[in-house]
Amino acid sequence: MTPYDSSAAPTPAARHPLVDGFGRTVTYLRVSVTDRCDLRCVYCMAEHMTFLPKAEVLTLEELDRVSSAFIGLGVRKLRLTGGEPLVRKGFMDLVEGLSRHLRSGALDELTLTTNGTQLARFAGDLARHGVKRINVSLDTLKPDLFRTLTRGGDVAAVIAGIDAAQAAGIAVKINAVALKHDNADEIPSLIQWAHARGLDMTLIETMPLGEVEADRTDQFLSLEQVRRELASYWTLTGLPLNTGGPARYVRVEETGGRLGFITPLSHNFCEACNRVRLTCTGTLHTCLGREDASDLRAVLRAGADDAALVDAIRLAVDAKPQGHDFQIARGEAPATRRHMSTTGG
Ligand code: SAM
Ligand code: SF4
Repeated sequence: MTPYDSSAAPTPAARHPLVDGFGRTVTYLRVSVTDRCDLRCVYCMAEHMTFLPKAEVLTLEELDRVSSAFIGLGVRKLRLTGGEPLVRKGFMDLVEGLSRHLRSGALDELTLTTNGTQLARFAGDLARHGVKRINVSLDTLKPDLFRTLTRGGDVAAVIAGIDAAQAAGIAVKINAVALKHDNADEIPSLIQWAHARGLDMTLIETMPLGEVEADRTDQFLSLEQVRRELASYWTLTGLPLNTGGPARYVRVEETGGRLGFITPLSHNFCEACNRVRLTCTGTLHTCLGREDASDLRAVLRAGADDAALVDAIRLAVDAKPQGHDFQIARGEAPATRRHMSTTGG
């Protein structure tokens, strides 16, 4: 039983899909359900973060309503993220409510990105509500380094979470941020570990989002360089997998596993971009790397009916920028002031 009415069908506005000014159809929505987190990864958050007052964060009902409006407009894949989605109170009620769109066939996939610390507790419920695949962020298997990178996290809890998810039948993809001084040497063994467990793995370049203490130009490790090194001893076969996102995939023939590279700084991936992001405060960002924003919370809280909400969404998507503008040169300000934990990774 959910604490709010989640029985409503998607809003009946799906006659025309969401197409932006450059002809790209938006079919993928990422929703950040909280800015809070039980970890403080050095590249993501400042050590002492000031989190948002509760009143600024969308309620579970509001999150359901906006997500459902997007689904009514043709979004087929919904990713819940954060902050850490599993620390949001009532999160599983939200998942349970949204799972009605899976059952109705309106949604192809309901998924989440998590740090995995709470997964052991929630994996069974996620599977029961139709979640079939999740991304778990894990940058190192070394307990000490993990504790340092996350400012206090316990890698054993994450591994127990991954075990629980796999036991529940959920496919897990590992996301690791490549960090020059911290995990560069460990990347091959991390890939081997993931592939030996039947997990896909994706490497991510650090992105200049939000002010943190660490110097990102110092942390930055080009994945082109990583790929060249891996290719010097492994056979990497390109895969024609197009997710509409910034990842490119290869098969590592020696391990038999799939490896993705997310290189927002090395490559432009914007032409085929099919995604938009909603922050936990109801701000819609149609581009991760720009300051463009539409305040859907204001629309919701002004008492908008479904038609007005749909109009606001269409207006925002229509103005989706053609491409991002990331820079990571020394001394540059972050491309956006938002932290990844606010926008939702
Ligand atoms: N807490 C969850 C987690 O860690 O998976 C979900 C939110 S987190 C912001 C989503 C992803 O963003 C994580 O994989 C994290 O490593 C990545 N991330 C955070 N800050 C980043 C940055 N500045 N550059 C690149 N990736 C970043
Ligand atoms: Fe939390 Fe995820 Fe950011 Fe790490 S990357 S601090 S786990 S939100």
